[in-house]
Formats: sequence, structure tokens, C-alpha cells
Amino acid sequence: MKSLTIILGDITAVKADAIVNAANTSLLGGGGVDGAIHRAAGPELLAECRLLNGCSTGEAKITKGYRLPADNVIHTPGPIWQGGDHNEADLLRNSYKNSLDLAEIHGCRTVAFPSISTGVYHFPLDLAAPIAVQTIQEFLNHSKVIEEVQMVCFDEITKRSYEQALNKLK
Ligand code: ADP
Repeated sequence: MKSLTIILGDITAVKADAIVNAANTSLLGGGGVDGAIHRAAGPELLAECRLLNGCSTGEAKITKGYRLPADNVIHTPGPIWQGGDHNEADLLRNSYKNSLDLAEIHGCRTVAFPSISTGVYHFPLDLAAPIAVQTIQEFLNHSKVIEEVQMVCFDEITKRSYEQALNKLK
């Protein structure tokens, strides 16, 4: 049975075939979940990221996980919220979709996501959560590779928002 589950936790502690990093376009590290992933993975992660020449918003690139419990890290810069009329919804959908495509190409069966763009990028949580769960669920329904996706929420408010969005979908 394929599953999408919402959990409260720290994504750097999640053992999965791939965890997703809410990166910035430089792929050279930042604050929030990006900083936490780089700290936990060790300097080898930054060294590999330096070879990637950055990444456009909504696209995704993969590296190894180094000292993380996860085997791989998929880096995707989500959109910065600019009021909603700058294609933010499509770009956020692309971040989830392109991350899952890449996970599938690399044979990942288990994937964990943070709440992309809802931190310092200020995408409203009540708009981001339905986009995330719809995109993931649709992908899971058709995927022959990915079996389990976890949304790893760092706080209760975020977790509740994704749970509500998932309940509405069912
Ligand atoms: P963005 O720039 O895409 O908004 P942020 O890292 O600022 O990315 O925030 C995205 C989400 O990740 C926020 O909900 C934030 O609370 C959460 N977050 C921060 N650290 C972690 C972590 N270690 N594990 C999971 N989520 C985290």
C-alpha cells in the first residue's frame, strides 16, 4: 500500500531513500531547514553542491546524503511569496513534482519533504499545504517506484495545516 503521512519532526533525523531540502537557488546553503540539513550532513554535502551550478526555482537536483541517515538529498528552491500573482502556486507545484520525478528516476521508494516555501519564503501555509498534498498524492497514485512519502512538519501549526489539507483531499 502506498502512503502519504504527515508527521511532526526534524527531517535531518529521518531515514529515507531521499529527503528533500527547501534550498535556495545558489544551492550553497542557507538558514532554516537548508542550514539544518547541511549541518547534519557535513561539509561533503556543500562540496558536492558546489559542483551543481545552482538550481532554478521549482527545479530539483540530487546529491548523496553523507552523514545524514537519509541516502540522498533532493534540493529544490521553492518560490518566494510575492503576493500570489508571480506564478508562486505553479512554481511550488513544480518543486514537489520535480523532486518526486528525480526521486523516482533514482529508484527511491521512500521520500520525506519539509514544508517548502512556508518559512522565510513566506508562502501562506493554508495555500501551500493543499498544493503539496495534492501534488504528492497524484504522483503516488501513478508511481511504480515511490511507495511512501512523509511530510515532516517542524511545528504543530504546520502539521495541522497539512493534516487538514490531506483530510479534504480524501
Ligand atoms: P523556505 O525558505 O522554503 O521557506 P525554511 O527553511 O525557511 O524554507 O522553512 C520551511 C519549513 O521548514 C518551515 O516550516 C520550517 O519551520 C521548517 N523547518 C526548519 N527546520 C526544519 C527541520 N530540521 N526539519 C523539518 N522542517 C524544518
